[in-house]
Amino acid sequence: MVEQPAGSGEQPFVDVRDACKVYQDGGHPVTALRHVDLQVPRGRFVSVIGPSGCGKSTLLRLVAGLEGPDRGEVRICGETPARATERKMVGFVPQTPALLPWLDVLGNVRVLEKVNRAGARRRGPVPAPAVAERCDLAGDPEALLRRLGLGDVLHARPGQLSGGMQQRTAIARAFALQPQVLLMDEPFSALDEFTREAAQLQLLDVWQELRTTVVFVTHSITEAVLLSDTVVVMAAGRVAGTVEVSLPRPRRSAQLDSGAMHEHEHRVRELLSHAWHADARSAP
Ligand code: ADP
Repeated sequence: MVEQPAGSGEQPFVDVRDACKVYQDGGHPVTALRHVDLQVPRGRFVSVIGPSGCGKSTLLRLVAGLEGPDRGEVRICGETPARATERKMVGFVPQTPALLPWLDVLGNVRVLEKVNRAGARRRGPVPAPAVAERCDLAGDPEALLRRLGLGDVLHARPGQLSGGMQQRTAIARAFALQPQVLLMDEPFSALDEFTREAAQLQLLDVWQELRTTVVFVTHSITEAVLLSDTVVVMAAGRVAGTVEVSLPRPRRSAQLDSGAMHEHEHRVRELLSHAWHADARSAP
């Protein structure tokens, strides 16, 4: 569980309580989540890390409202995920960027903005929190793309871009919708290490200004620590522990080699290792 800052008394932005999820795979039950709690306060960057199959994506899908829990509850700003999604409070960046190949980079970022505006006219007034979150940078797709290092390719088609550029376009598109909560499912997993580090720092640069509440799924300990306020360690469908990251912000690449960085990475690695050994001991 991610604790609220002491004395904040604020309702968590993302609030998952006692979530359980069991899939049926060829008639056999597969437990994806067992009594998972996750409370993410407003404006925090929280990463969820764990080995393949531990339930990270399932947790994200529950928060996104793409699936419901078998037991337990999920709330976003007090709303059900379905209602929050309908109100465009939730942004999602998947592992593959899913850009429209016939539109250029700028067009891809603007297209959902247009769809949203048309939808908003039909849906009526936007709830107050979404308006309060508005920010100049998020409202300016071109500025967002420049901040993400895409100023030279605004009019290129997705097919002309590298994987890293495509993924940053998808991230710009998600921020441009000005969600209350941004869910990111391993957006940099397909990138080489150097490209990945650059993309992480550009994401942080934008986030530092917008302070959108983020839940970020990753396999990488370094990525989780560099980006996050809190790292949630999952193992076999449960939360094995959390690490609060006290590295100062804004974060810089020089911090990657610092003793404090390594100390945080070590704590995450230890939690993962303890959980792995505990699960191996209790396996039938
Ligand atoms: P992670 O994202 O950590 O790799 P997932 O959340 O994708 O893990 O999966 C957790 C477990 O649930 C895994 O054992 C996976 O095989 C299983 N699972 C996920 N989705 C389904 C599904 N639609 N049907 C059956 N099993 C699933």
